[in-house]
Amino acid sequence: MIPQGILNKMDGSRQRYVDELLSFLRIPSVSTYSQNGSDVRRAAEWVLNQLKRLGFQAKLYPTEGHPIVFGERCDMPDRPTLLIYGHYDVQPPEPLEEWRTPPFQPIIQDGYVYGRGATDDKGQFFTYLKAIEAILAVESKLPINVKILVEGEEEISSPHLAPFLSSHQTDLKADAVAISDGSQFMQGIPAITYSLRGLSYLQMEVNGPQFDLHSGVFGGVVTNPVQALATILGKLLHPDGRIAIPGFYDDIVPLEAWERDEMAGLRFDEEGLKSYLGVQDLAGETGYTPLERKTARPTLDVNGIWGGFSGEGAKTIIPAKAGAKVSMRLVPNQNFRKINGLFREYVESITPAGVTLKIKELHGADPVLVSRDEVHVQAAAKAIEKGFGRAPVFIREGGSIPIVNLLKEVLGIESILLLGWGSPDDGAHSPNERFLLDDFHRGIRSVAALLYELSPS
Ligand SMILES: [Zn+2]
Repeated sequence: MIPQGILNKMDGSRQRYVDELLSFLRIPSVSTYSQNGSDVRRAAEWVLNQLKRLGFQAKLYPTEGHPIVFGERCDMPDRPTLLIYGHYDVQPPEPLEEWRTPPFQPIIQDGYVYGRGATDDKGQFFTYLKAIEAILAVESKLPINVKILVEGEEEISSPHLAPFLSSHQTDLKADAVAISDGSQFMQGIPAITYSLRGLSYLQMEVNGPQFDLHSGVFGGVVTNPVQALATILGKLLHPDGRIAIPGFYDDIVPLEAWERDEMAGLRFDEEGLKSYLGVQDLAGETGYTPLERKTARPTLDVNGIWGGFSGEGAKTIIPAKAGAKVSMRLVPNQNFRKINGLFREYVESITPAGVTLKIKELHGADPVLVSRDEVHVQAAAKAIEKGFGRAPVFIREGGSIPIVNLLKEVLGIESILLLGWGSPDDGAHSPNERFLLDDFHRGIRSVAALLYELSPS
């Protein structure tokens, strides 16, 4: 239970919370642009100041890129520790002409705050700071130990986070991690994400003759690499949408009946998705609903393909080489290294004679599954119910969040709480990014509730 005094404090401070958020959003901390380097640093210092004002022992840790802010306030040695992760950098705002108002001059309209970073991730991360502030305005101590890790390179794939985690393992020790960098299932339906898909990303090159050949002089005696590649790609999927690689499905934890019932109960809007995508039909593995296929079943997609002549007019050649990029989304308990091996073995076995094949592994991440019976997850569910006035639904997410794998692998923390306060249509990474202020305040309330729920009574 959140003490009443804290609830009153939060209610009385709504306007100030928003004003402070606006000043955070005014800092153009675009991590990918070197000309914004000093702005990114200013955002880091802004967060550091907030932490210091909350009595955290906090520091800026320089990296070869943008600094990491880390702080802790461990008032209760015998109580659990929550690690909060967020990022203070933002995506570039371009295309600027599509913004109705300037991206770094945030404004309030129709109950939303509009501006780059509103939901991803400044607005969502800021809820943690304000909840902590409200608690400390009334109580002398936080109900649990809190550590806060905020990086400035999330939007450029966190190149310096892994080394930081490895060299600060003891400082970062925690019982659970909370991340609010996603969204609710949909506006008004809060969610806890308990599973993420993994990724295998490979590049294939098919090589034939050592140079492009005259198709009249040499046609009929060599394997054409573009056609060989097409043959290979055509054999990756069965007509029913199943992936044809032998052994691919062996390690998958099957969806249980109760889970399928629950997903069906979410009433996923199929027609809405079609019209959003501008397609006549949805496709994919038979026997599964679209929501299951896009979050809980593995997939294989060709991401790009090249080879031969594609300029204007005709050029009669047999190309020397061709290539493609292929990604596979993986589900619990598939392992990306094992899948890469199976892919290689299968593709080699179906490669036509007369060409050679090279496979390069580009990226990999294992899928994540957090047990819903776990005490921290249960605490988060109760906290969200208090903050949003309704119990969260449990959802699987189709994408991967590399930071989650890092936290699991480097720090060994299994309880990862993915709690999104935003909405899927907030326009993260898009023009006119926004965040509903009611959700911002509900997020603050949920965070306060979470700190109390995690505290043993
Ligand atoms: Zn983000």
